[in-house]
Amino acid sequence: MSSFSYKDIYIEDGRKIVEVNILPEKYCNFDCIFCPIGRSYNKVDTPQSFENMNDSLKELESMIEKNGVELVFINSKGEALLNDKIYDIIELIKRKKVSVRLLSNGYLFGKAEYIKIANTCDEVVGEIKTISEEDFQKIQRPIVGYILDEYISNMILFNRQYRGTFILDITVIKGYNDDDKSIDKIKSIIQELSPDKVIVERMNDEKFKKKLGISDERFEEISKELCNIKSVKKQ
Ligand code: SF4
Repeated sequence: MSSFSYKDIYIEDGRKIVEVNILPEKYCNFDCIFCPIGRSYNKVDTPQSFENMNDSLKELESMIEKNGVELVFINSKGEALLNDKIYDIIELIKRKKVSVRLLSNGYLFGKAEYIKIANTCDEVVGEIKTISEEDFQKIQRPIVGYILDEYISNMILFNRQYRGTFILDITVIKGYNDDDKSIDKIKSIIQELSPDKVIVERMNDEKFKKKLGISDERFEEISKELCNIKSVKKQ
């Protein structure tokens, strides 16, 4: 029996992609109020072991082979880095000569053991959703002791040494980071972080759209501003 779950295969920039969730239930170091998966009853930041990993790895291998997958996107129910077999999962994918994209909220990019794992991926996605300490604590509800400055600097320091493609995923949230001052702050983070690509999103989930979603016009405006920033290229 496998513990992984998959989304339908799709094509992106000519590449065949499969998204895989490698967590049996939600495990995350944050507990965001807008999380589409629900509450974080397992709020942890240490590696967790799960059952059925051998079967899950076999299933992933056959999924890649049967479908001619060119990139596996590890996009999980929470923080994928918390699966203590993540290194084996990435290694299996790489052995098949297939690229790996890993989605993480980015906080754990400050810990040596997780940096080592993320460095083996071709593409890494980190996120920004709040830009003040108060909002970070209030709406992302991280593990006690986490602070926003450390979160951002963990991603900046990670990307300084990372050789792959770093994608920064920014979610614009009404009333929290959609005003001009916040957008300027995000711009300076982008400049310092220097990602290879910026993706701007907004609250699309029906449950949160009304309260936290922004208008089409404002979304267009902010997207243009944030996606056109010239970041300092990696050496
Ligand atoms: S970081 Fe992502 S998975 Fe974790 S609680 Fe927040 S929205 Fe959910």
